[in-house]
Amino acid sequence: MNAMTEAAVIRQHLIDPEICIRCNTCEATCPIGAITHDDRNYVVKADVCNGCMACISPCPTGSIDNWRTMPATRAYPVEEQLLWDELPPELTPEQLAEAGVATDAQAEAAVPVLAQAPAAAAATLAEAPFNSAAYGATTPPWSAAHAYTNLYPPKKPTTATVVGNINCTESGFASETHHVVLDFGSMPFPVLEGQSIGIIPPGVDANGKPHVARQYSVASPRNGERPGYNNVALTVKRVTEDHQGRPVRGVASNYVCDLKVGDTVQVVGPFGHSFLMPNHPRSHIVMICTGTGSAPMRAMTEWRRRLRKSGRFEGGKLMLFFGARTPQELPYFGPLQTLPKDFIDINLAFSRQPDQPRRYVQDLMRERAADLAALLKDSHTHFYVCGLKSMEEGVVLALRDVAEQAGLPWDTLGPVLKAEGRLHLETY
Ligand SMILES: Cc1cc2nc3c(=O)[nH]c(=O)nc-3n(C[C@H](O)[C@H](O)[C@H](O)COP(=O)(O)OP(=O)(O)OC[C@H]3O[C@@H](n4cnc5c(N)ncnc54)[C@H](O)[C@@H]3O)c2cc1C
Ligand code: SF4
Ligand code: SF4
Repeated sequence: MNAMTEAAVIRQHLIDPEICIRCNTCEATCPIGAITHDDRNYVVKADVCNGCMACISPCPTGSIDNWRTMPATRAYPVEEQLLWDELPPELTPEQLAEAGVATDAQAEAAVPVLAQAPAAAAATLAEAPFNSAAYGATTPPWSAAHAYTNLYPPKKPTTATVVGNINCTESGFASETHHVVLDFGSMPFPVLEGQSIGIIPPGVDANGKPHVARQYSVASPRNGERPGYNNVALTVKRVTEDHQGRPVRGVASNYVCDLKVGDTVQVVGPFGHSFLMPNHPRSHIVMICTGTGSAPMRAMTEWRRRLRKSGRFEGGKLMLFFGARTPQELPYFGPLQTLPKDFIDINLAFSRQPDQPRRYVQDLMRERAADLAALLKDSHTHFYVCGLKSMEEGVVLALRDVAEQAGLPWDTLGPVLKAEGRLHLETY
């Protein structure tokens, strides 16, 4: 056998030093101590990290969700990473081949699930944890506007004033989500639809350390919740139980939901440079979300609505798949019903309706396979997925099945969507 094709290949986990805000969340989260830091950088030890993904969603900046296909023997050592000011580029296929990595091993490492036949992919999914990094784009759409990030790092937060706070789910139910509007006065805080901001709750945690910021997606368009004002809307769910259903009082979400008009809050950010909407005429947007994952979708929809109203946008379809347990728990349920049918194609899935079968967003996607397939075939279509971490796998598999049924091989299409910044996943 040719020794040149035998080199072991890994997907090395790296932290982007340009975006990381050195908040220590990842180091505190990693169950096996694979993350370390010095005064300069947070870094991942290649020989310890097992890719469990536990650190991905808690990271407030997304800087931790970076991966490079590397020959195992050439993995970047910790000492080198600690000196970086920016991430190195991916090794080219030629460089990998020179290092003895076979082409199929490259593809497998780069897109561990996508690169396999559907049946094999399903088997892989059953065996290994779903790796969202294999699907989600890390680059924005080509026509996205420039996003400012990290204008206010945790050591230099800015202050915003609460100018609105209402329950945007039906009142009288245990589950509660608030629409909160923050005004920045004369402090610059430019945001785009799809970005998020961090809120620092006052007080200290159980260890006596100041609370770290929690991240919230921007729910308003770029020109403000109130057009022309320097304000930003958020969609915040009051956390009253943890992911296992045990009663808990979430620190930041309860703080935000209880804010009164006139209160001030400490804000960091903005964050996010890839989950951004396309701006070119006739670009289509498919939005798939659950719960507060609707925040960025509301922002994008409202921006398109304002553009359409002003006569400045030349079409482009909007398709929304929105899931909640019940209509009462679905944020913005009322306002959604008033949007014109020729402006947005709305598909709602409820999983806990009495006397009705459970329906999830991926079920609706399969029902609308014909329309989705047409959109998948169109290079002007961009897909956005936002909500709880658990939704990612089902949604990506539904998209894969719709594509395959339409004769679009997913092992070709998936990497194209990712490379062209057309499939974005943001879950927490
Ligand atoms: C990129 C990004 C965007 C986000 N956007 C939004 C948004 O638009 N709206 C929004 O409400 N939240 C959003 N979040 C989640 C948010 O940052 C907080 O995690 C959430 O509000 C809980 O914070 P907490 O301080 O109330 O709870 P904590 O005090 O941090 O946690 C209390 C307990 O609840 C668990 N828990 C944390 N979050 C949840 C949850 N969502 N459901 C159930 N249990 C939970 C924790 O594991 C812990 O056990 C986003 C997160 C990320 C990473
Ligand atoms: S992926 Fe898992 S093992 Fe690797 S650094 Fe993150 S938490 Fe640690
Ligand atoms: S959690 Fe993210 S932002 Fe915070 S130190 Fe880790 S990589 Fe940096």
